[in-house]
Amino acid sequence: MAVEQLLILIKPDGIKKSLTGNILTKLSEARMVIIGAKAVKVGKELAEQHYYHLKDKPFFGELVEYIQGKIYGEPWDRVLAFVYQGEDAISRMRKIAGATNPEEADPVSIRGAYGRITTKGVYENVVHCSSDPAEAEREIKLWFKPEEIVKNIYDTQKIIAEKEEKIIWKQK
Ligand code: UDP
Ligand code: MG
Repeated sequence: MAVEQLLILIKPDGIKKSLTGNILTKLSEARMVIIGAKAVKVGKELAEQHYYHLKDKPFFGELVEYIQGKIYGEPWDRVLAFVYQGEDAISRMRKIAGATNPEEADPVSIRGAYGRITTKGVYENVVHCSSDPAEAEREIKLWFKPEEIVKNIYDTQKIIAEKEEKIIWKQK
């Protein structure tokens, strides 16, 4: 068994249903450690990149809106993003998350317990969970900067970024 890391998202339906605590409690049964965590307002580009493997599906447009929380609006239009690490983390966390289709998912899994299918046919399944190590690496690098993760999990490089605009806390 290998130590793996993966991306977990609490999707906007999970936020709206106030399921953050329940989801994190269920995930904690796997005894993994959280090595990155943040709240994200998901832009269209990030949403499309995250789900690029589904871009040819008829529901792609709805899916991109769903992960952005557009249907819910303020203050539910955000996700909570986590990087978890542990032995055999991907298959173990996916088991706790449950099958993609919430109606086929084990009723004791997160998706089975809390997911639904919308009238438009989108699976609102409450959490995202990386599917394999290569996808996990792609997704973690898409959602997190190296300094937002408390462990070195992938190789980094140092660059000098000139004329980079950034927002900092205003001094009093
Ligand atoms: N999805 C959907 N209908 C489908 C397949 C997928 O609405 O027929 C949505 C669902 O929210 C799912 C996401 O698209 O979580 C990503 O699909 P994927 O096949 O990667 O499933 P996952 O890895 O999330 O189980
Ligand atoms: Mg997937």
